[in-house]
Amino acid sequence: MTVQTPILPGATLGVLGGGQLGRMFVHSAQSLGYFTAVLDADPDSPAGRVSHHHVRTAYDDAAGLAELAGLCAAVTTEFENVPAPSLATLATRLPVSPAARAVGIAQDRAAEKAHFVACGVPCAPYAVIETAEQLAAVDARLLPGILKTSRMGYDGKGQARVADAAALAAAWERLGRVPCVLEQMLPLAAECSVVLARGRDGAFVHFPVQRNLHREGILAVTEVHAGNIDAALAAEAVRSAHAIADGLDYVGVLCVEFFVLADGRLVVNEIAPRPHNSGHYTIDACDSSQFDLQVRTLCGLPLVQPRQHSAAVMLNLLGDLWFDVAGTQRTPAWAEVLALPGAHLHLYGKRDAKPGRKMGHLTFTAADARGARDAALAACALLGIEAF
Ligand code: ATP
Ligand code: MG
Repeated sequence: MTVQTPILPGATLGVLGGGQLGRMFVHSAQSLGYFTAVLDADPDSPAGRVSHHHVRTAYDDAAGLAELAGLCAAVTTEFENVPAPSLATLATRLPVSPAARAVGIAQDRAAEKAHFVACGVPCAPYAVIETAEQLAAVDARLLPGILKTSRMGYDGKGQARVADAAALAAAWERLGRVPCVLEQMLPLAAECSVVLARGRDGAFVHFPVQRNLHREGILAVTEVHAGNIDAALAAEAVRSAHAIADGLDYVGVLCVEFFVLADGRLVVNEIAPRPHNSGHYTIDACDSSQFDLQVRTLCGLPLVQPRQHSAAVMLNLLGDLWFDVAGTQRTPAWAEVLALPGAHLHLYGKRDAKPGRKMGHLTFTAADARGARDAALAACALLGIEAF
């Protein structure tokens, strides 16, 4: 179903997935005066706990989807692995964005890469491996490489770095011989991403290009300030992201992740059909956040180009910070961190801290890059995060 007139505050908006992205969507929707409904089986999910309604079923449960459809005027998703057929089912009853087709492509690395090629946006050289024959026929120039499962990977999970053909075969065996993509290992100089929003009418707005630092396959630091990325590269990233979104006829908030190679070339890595961890700084450093834009695209409200008003550095807060070197549980030094200028602490309300689990994030805003970096580095020292 398509929206003819905007869905105005007072209506109920639904989200598939109860994680931190859903929680921040709920916060934005509620501050605009919408009611919210979250579908997530976990009774303790971060978004479910702050939503007006919480449907506690699996993403593919017909009764749960029907209940959500009955509650809501429109539905979005925060979890890219929500089964695309669930979105398609909901879309027969009410407006859904992003659409099942776009989410389906983002869920499958092989389809995603084919889309990049179709849009004329360069990505890493790759091969699809679904059969033993395809494994045997792999071009040696793709090695050393990274073998990634086509589906269900996130935060570096479902990936193996492989040096040669023997390691590749062993890794595919270990991953259960599921469909995979082998990518050539590229020499990265930097990583960056663009968060954009596209409306039903094709209107396009975007946030500034974010520079991202990953550690062990997980985003660790995002920096957004003048000079974080070469201006020509940043413009190219925005153009490429726009082409990728147009090619999907995308409606909603989309993140496009890129690699900057040692020789200065820009190649696309992957897309996330939702707000993204690298866009969390927009809550505190921009005049509208990526979650505000998710609400607007879902409801068919006007999209206005957002403006970044402060330099920003975001630190991800992983569960590791809740343990000392001896492995004893502790509470991170929040009071000391909040004494730093421009600190914005966001904790997701997750009960159990586990190493590698995203528990929250911390954004530092300042008048310039120096101020934001200095405060963030001071926080790193207080919390036991490696400096960047
Ligand atoms: P996300 O949580 O971003 O969805 P993911 O599990 O989908 O993560 P990728 O983005 O594919 O994983 O890879 C994680 C990180 O591994 C990248 O950000 C990059 O640092 C590194 N990486 C991935 N592919 C390559 C490559 N072809 N060459 C070099 N480094 C790579
Ligand atoms: Mg990634």
